[in-house]
Amino acid sequence: MLKLQELIRRDMDKLAISITTEQGKTLKDAQGDVFRGLEVVEHACGMASLQLGEFASNVSHGIDTYSIREPLGVCAGICPFNFPAMIPLWMFPVAVTCGNTFVLKPSEKDPGASMILAELAMEAGLPSGVLNVVHGTHDIVNAICDDEDVKAISFVGSNTAGMHIYSRASAKGKRVQSNMGAKNHGIVMPDASTDATLNALVAAGFGAAGQRCMALSTVVFVGDPKEWENELVKRAKTLKVNAGTEPDADLGPVISKQAKDRVCRLIQSGVESGARLLLDGRDIVVPGYEQGNFVGPTILSGVTEDMECYKEEIFGPVLLCMQADSLEEAINIVNRNKYGNGAAIFTSSGVAARKFQTDIEAGQVGINVPIPVPLPFFSFTGSKASFAGDLNFYGKAGVNFYTQIKTVTQQWKDLPGGSGVSLAMPTSQKC
Ligand code: NAD
Repeated sequence: MLKLQELIRRDMDKLAISITTEQGKTLKDAQGDVFRGLEVVEHACGMASLQLGEFASNVSHGIDTYSIREPLGVCAGICPFNFPAMIPLWMFPVAVTCGNTFVLKPSEKDPGASMILAELAMEAGLPSGVLNVVHGTHDIVNAICDDEDVKAISFVGSNTAGMHIYSRASAKGKRVQSNMGAKNHGIVMPDASTDATLNALVAAGFGAAGQRCMALSTVVFVGDPKEWENELVKRAKTLKVNAGTEPDADLGPVISKQAKDRVCRLIQSGVESGARLLLDGRDIVVPGYEQGNFVGPTILSGVTEDMECYKEEIFGPVLLCMQADSLEEAINIVNRNKYGNGAAIFTSSGVAARKFQTDIEAGQVGINVPIPVPLPFFSFTGSKASFAGDLNFYGKAGVNFYTQIKTVTQQWKDLPGGSGVSLAMPTSQKC
């Protein structure tokens, strides 16, 4: 892993160009994609201590009990399109460091980074057959779910695929960790720092064209939203939409024509259900890339919980604005949403922040931090409909996911002869 880390740094530009070319995000964002994955490789370098077992000496006279964490065998990972380097790196470095072999199924939309990473892993000295890459879509995924040799599956992607894989693979007795869709909210209190909060909302709402599972896609303003919304529109208008390879691009295209059509349909459904379109990015044309699947930053205001654009994950550069009269009401809105990946509060009040942290139902909580994804010594802890399984990705939970416990009881003492055979249940108790 130490060597792999060095090689990923060496080939950073090659990886970033591959990601931008296939996926569309800006080169800077593609580097972020690799760097975030690299953090997991670094985490894996020091992971041995997380694999330690436990030891209880002399649980009974001459008897000790200890547990060992062992690999599962063959593990597999099924990846989405939006982080072509980071998500494969959430999976195989942890799995192989725990002693497993790994079958990686990248997204069919952008498999290039996985191939480069696999080549780097071989160059770093991973023995042949330890990391395997397979390409394909539904059939290959179903084959992975059904294969007797595969003991555990890590999945990241949409809820439709995630729940299908979770049920199909767990019915075959496999372990599954499934990170799925999201609707991440930011609550803005009237006392929030204006400039920093607006910049955070714009960056987290429109960065990577909104195609991040932790993108901040909904803002709930506590109090009057008007001034906030006006400023948001002004700042969003300054963002440059362009091909990711262009140096001035702030956001690139969405992944496909179907994705663009879906985003536009959800925006239109919001308008038809009564939301106000403060900024419309649907008709944007980027010179030189007229056929590109671009959607410009879009802001809908007056959004309510019954609207389809609110209930569905949009996964595009669309920020929904809602209003609440109190922090309590804002928290209730967030908690009623089915997803639970992330939520953030912007405030200068410790009391409000603490109430938010306690009452909010989301796996990853930000206090003046718009995208609260932890470093990998903590796990990625999505909850509610954003996660299925028991053990989260990386961190201590990640090691537990890719290992199983064996418990050994040993006896080393001189046994007196002639004590006979006892068929009674052995216990540590005396009658
Ligand atoms: P997707 O579900 O369409 O595809 C993910 C993977 O599943 C791909 O490898 C694909 O080939 C496979 N797949 C898709 N449909 C399948 C089916 N019916 N049966 C079997 N396999 C199938 O997801 P996507 O569009 O690539 O990625 C976007 C989604 O991923 C968004 O919902 C986003 O929120 C989510 N995501 C979640 C996280 C997280 O950590 N929670 C991180 C990144 C992305």
